Amino acid sequence: MPRSMSCPESFLSDSYAQQRFKEICQWAKDNHPYYQRSLADCDQVPILTREQILDNNQMLLNGHEVTGKTSGSTGVPVQISWSQQRHELEGKVTNKFVGWLGGRRNVTKMIHLGEKDQGDQFLDVNSAVDVQLEYLQKRYAEQGADAITTYPTNAERLCLAILERKLDMSFVQRVGCYAEVFEPNHERLIQQAFPNAQIWTTYSSTEFGMIAARCPHNPDFHHVFAGKLGVEILNKDGKPCEKNELGRLVITDYFNTHMPLIRYEIGDLAAWGECDCGKIPLPAFSRVVGKVRGALVHRNGERVPFTNLSVALREIKGMRQYQVIQHELERFELRYVTSDEYDEALRHAAVVEFSQHFGYQPQIEFRREKVIERGANGKYYASISHV
Ligand SMILES: [Zn+2]
Repeated sequence: MPRSMSCPESFLSDSYAQQRFKEICQWAKDNHPYYQRSLADCDQVPILTREQILDNNQMLLNGHEVTGKTSGSTGVPVQISWSQQRHELEGKVTNKFVGWLGGRRNVTKMIHLGEKDQGDQFLDVNSAVDVQLEYLQKRYAEQGADAITTYPTNAERLCLAILERKLDMSFVQRVGCYAEVFEPNHERLIQQAFPNAQIWTTYSSTEFGMIAARCPHNPDFHHVFAGKLGVEILNKDGKPCEKNELGRLVITDYFNTHMPLIRYEIGDLAAWGECDCGKIPLPAFSRVVGKVRGALVHRNGERVPFTNLSVALREIKGMRQYQVIQHELERFELRYVTSDEYDEALRHAAVVEFSQHFGYQPQIEFRREKVIERGANGKYYASISHV
């Protein structure tokens, strides 16, 4: 390998990763206009940022049809193109994952519907809870559908209704959640509302498809799809993180030649771990922290995962829905839904929770809403940071 394209330190002890990384870099350097420029005369293959993709999106697409767009929750979406082979590869990876779970089930998907999502198994995620619950029961009675796939916040909505009405959902054998952050609270609710269901969750993105999936044998770990992706976790200095050290995720797609993404810093945090299931021979994360874009920024400059504050806000009496928007380092907006009787006490409680979370008191603008809608992509954002 020429010195101009040295291998990232994270891959030095992994000959498969080294070989694949070298191949995609060489291919891109020889064939792709963006990389012909960016990989010329450099010691180390540079990190690709989201801003660089946005600035060069057309060149990166290289004339290929757009096959996916990121959510754009905090700005302009990134346009992605996958080749047919890349789509087929993703199908194989999905099949492998379904194999880990014990095979296919007849599933009802309550998601944001795309053009291709037509048929009995689909229902729009914005459908009323009653409509969803009736549909699940009907699909089971008529077609034996005994599995659900949806987003965590929708699963939460369903579970709360099921528990409140004491509905028997024991026919559901599997519940899968993806596309949003999956919190311990979601898991507890699913276990209560769907007592017989196996629970799965994946970590995925529009750019790379499935990146990791929770180990079905050991839920503390997510196995990484290292056959198709080169995954690095880097610290502040750009060095590989130690085990359990949370760092920035940098990912290379080995096989997408339509729009190669090489060393792309996707904007999430993760830590390496070692799953001892002994059944899945893939590396594992011990932690994945959802979109850093959704993580809030402390005034010391560090991004802080939103989960703890999120749980605290959820547990404030009378809180029905909430969304935290960080406009500036110390200026937040809290959109929330409650009733008159709780409004004032809720604001006081929220001020206390922010102060405890950050260790100082940032400014909070309160905006009471009738309802907080999902984004245009069907996902619900509990936190958005513009910093
Ligand atoms: Zn495992």
